[in-house]
Amino acid sequence: MKTRTKVVVIGGGIAGCSTLYHLTQEGWSDVVLLERNDLTSGTTWHSAAQVTNFGMNQTMVGLKTHSINLYKELADDPNHPINYNHGDGGIRLANTKEQIQGYHHFASMARGMDVDFEVIDAKECQRRHPLISTDNLIGGLWDPLDGDIDPYQLCHSLCRRARQAGAEVYTNTPVIALEQYQDGTWKVTTKSGDIDCDVIVNACGYRVNEVGAMMGVHHPVASMEHQYFLTEDIPEIIDAGHRMPLLRCPISDYYCRQDKDGLLLGFYEQNCKPWGMDGIDPNFVNALCPDDLERVTDVLDGAFARMPVLMNAGIRSIINGPITYTIDGAPLVGKIPGKENAFCIIGLRAGLGEGGGHGWLLAQQIVHGEACYDTWCLDPRRFTAHANVEMTSLKAIEDYQNEFRFHFPHEHRPAARPAKTTPLTPVMANKNAEFTVINGWERVEYIKPSKDFHPSLSFHFDEAFDVVANEVKNVQNNVGLTEVNGFNRFEITGSDANSFVDRMFCGNITQKSGRVGLGYLLNDFGMIKSEATISNIPASDRGQKRMWYGSAAASEFHDMDWLNQNLKDDEDVAIKSLTNDQTILLLAGPKAREVLSKCSREDWSKESFPWLSVRECFIGFSPATVISVSFSGELAYEVHVPNESLYAAYLELTEAGEEFGMKLFGSRAVESMRMEKGFLGWKSDLITEFDPFETGLDRFVNLKKDNFIGKEALKNRIKKSPNQKLVCLKVACKHAPAYGGASLMEDGNVIGTITSGEWGHRVNLNLAYAFVNPEKSKIGTQLNLDLLGELISAEVIPFSPYDESYSRILV
Ligand SMILES: Cc1cc2nc3c(=O)[nH]c(=O)nc-3n(C[C@H](O)[C@H](O)[C@H](O)COP(=O)(O)OP(=O)(O)OC[C@H]3O[C@@H](n4cnc5c(N)ncnc54)[C@H](O)[C@@H]3O)c2cc1C
Repeated sequence: MKTRTKVVVIGGGIAGCSTLYHLTQEGWSDVVLLERNDLTSGTTWHSAAQVTNFGMNQTMVGLKTHSINLYKELADDPNHPINYNHGDGGIRLANTKEQIQGYHHFASMARGMDVDFEVIDAKECQRRHPLISTDNLIGGLWDPLDGDIDPYQLCHSLCRRARQAGAEVYTNTPVIALEQYQDGTWKVTTKSGDIDCDVIVNACGYRVNEVGAMMGVHHPVASMEHQYFLTEDIPEIIDAGHRMPLLRCPISDYYCRQDKDGLLLGFYEQNCKPWGMDGIDPNFVNALCPDDLERVTDVLDGAFARMPVLMNAGIRSIINGPITYTIDGAPLVGKIPGKENAFCIIGLRAGLGEGGGHGWLLAQQIVHGEACYDTWCLDPRRFTAHANVEMTSLKAIEDYQNEFRFHFPHEHRPAARPAKTTPLTPVMANKNAEFTVINGWERVEYIKPSKDFHPSLSFHFDEAFDVVANEVKNVQNNVGLTEVNGFNRFEITGSDANSFVDRMFCGNITQKSGRVGLGYLLNDFGMIKSEATISNIPASDRGQKRMWYGSAAASEFHDMDWLNQNLKDDEDVAIKSLTNDQTILLLAGPKAREVLSKCSREDWSKESFPWLSVRECFIGFSPATVISVSFSGELAYEVHVPNESLYAAYLELTEAGEEFGMKLFGSRAVESMRMEKGFLGWKSDLITEFDPFETGLDRFVNLKKDNFIGKEALKNRIKKSPNQKLVCLKVACKHAPAYGGASLMEDGNVIGTITSGEWGHRVNLNLAYAFVNPEKSKIGTQLNLDLLGELISAEVIPFSPYDESYSRILV
């Protein structure tokens, strides 16, 4: 065995094989795969191995398209063909109009990735799949490229090509220890000797945490038992003379595909079972869990009713094996949080279909630092310290029970909640708060008019529309209070803090004591990495002069990694996270200043504390740091309070606010107001696929600055014309908002993609943001939005349709 290589990929299932192959495709040939037993001996060998193009967002659709194209190429290899039933087609069934709305949205979204799904009615479903009945069926989503592949052949084919390009594969070589050297490189210890490398990749399937433990990492991945059976030949299939399309059923929770001349039927039973929570037998290799068809009888009834031929079909064999899950159902593909030169490709629950694409995106990240798509939906850093295997296992059960039932907008499922709370969470619950979950935090979404207020799940505006409208109205006319928990906040200190921060941002960021600046961080390709405020807090008895770096709640691990990664060895800079120690009480509205003045002895006049200021103070007797920034477009103050004083500060503000008509509001009102003001959202409007000029952030870039990360790349980019431009749209309908991913069409071609959409209650407009072809970005341009299957006009309007002059903030 080699003793040194560039990358060691640990695990020879589809995840590891795909990563190895794609590393060679990205130009790194000195790479090694270590497998403890044989290739595919974990979950991969017994997979039902369906390969669909369906995904919940454009990154997922794009990576699945990559899988399909790659698998087709491997299948067509004249010397080493593999078995791939490409293009049998597949139907996701539906028995409610809301499911059909969802399918229309997914079809609109996929169109932007050059993928043509079709929403069809029940009769057409039956025409395409003659074995099904149309009882309790209203239609489905047709994926023309659906199919299935031989998992063993696929992995061997990828490894053969990787070997041809220089990679090496060692089977029966279990990794037993990992050690990181001072310089960040790794020593990988195996039963056959040691191998040093620059980068390690954990691709260990259900053994992910055995290898995680070797590097002191606890990955939020848990396994579930999952069963399917194969039937004997079915005469109706032989008679049909063509292959049956695949079926996925959210009504009765099963999937079905043709296998030889019979069917393969897989189950997502309600009475499901986690697996391996207390350790995994080291001899569980090429192995299965005991059959347990008793557990799936509820699902079987539904499948029999839909496909009566099943009732006469004999069962040829039963497969029950472990399948991995994460907290939100999507895998963890990317950098391991807090670890240098360490990546993972784990938690794959549909790894055969997706694995080709995941390995592709991961290899790009390892070799180039970034992938061609924004990979936040896969990024392991989207979960933070709260995420553990116990929690994941509860979410896995919930996810498994709802496998084909996609989340509706504003649907927040109940398992493993509340994960992260503040002293105010129970207080807000008593006020009838509806909560949303952001990075595990329970965040107030709006205050329900009554305890039993439950808006319906739909892609249309729901019954909370008027509730949110009233919250916005009170913020506009009086003053509102909300809790913003989990807001990401790093304290940056040290003699080089100023130059470090200056290098991280692409524009001028104020370093004046007591002042606050907003700016953007770019990656090495000149694309948007993060958005943050810097608050320059003067020295006081609470601490030395320091900066607070504030960014989106979900970005805690992501931004910390990015800042640390770019810190030079000789720089005197310390970065400390205060994210979990403090919470923001946000006061917004024209009477916010009066409320603050009533409970804090400072001078809060415009002259003494103008917009974009920061100051330490007391709210009553609670220590606080107040920052005058506004995401709502109204006069506003962020009151940052240590969690132990949060309730006291809340009581103080509530009492002070009473005479000014202060009421609570939530994140849905904030979303509406930020869109009216032209403010952007991280990872909806601000993504790594666009640079700051394309995103309309010209005023936040200073190309004359000595240096900043991404400067050279950005200068080269702007020599070419922009690919797309972010615009604000007025959508000509009142029944539904535009959803992220939906396509803007012209003559049957996609000319833009929605990033955000929400009703603007103060301007009374259905607003959306979208990236569009630059020639379509002029104010007044009329576009057509494919919204839930209908073409709706949408007009390009100026950003910030509410108070364009900022007169309401600058009072
Ligand atoms: C019943 C069933 C049906 C399924 N059907 C589908 C489907 O239709 N479509 C689909 O897309 N997906 C399906 N899946 C899921 C899919 O099979 C998995 O997502 C995929 O196989 C996971 O691949 P992996 O490489 O992540 O893990 P694995 O295949 O488990 O590979 C991990 C590898 O790491 C090795 N390893 C572990 N520890 C070490 C160590 N210390 N040193 C070296 N090597 C190590 C293991 O031996 C193993 O070979 C199904 C799963 C099940 C259980």
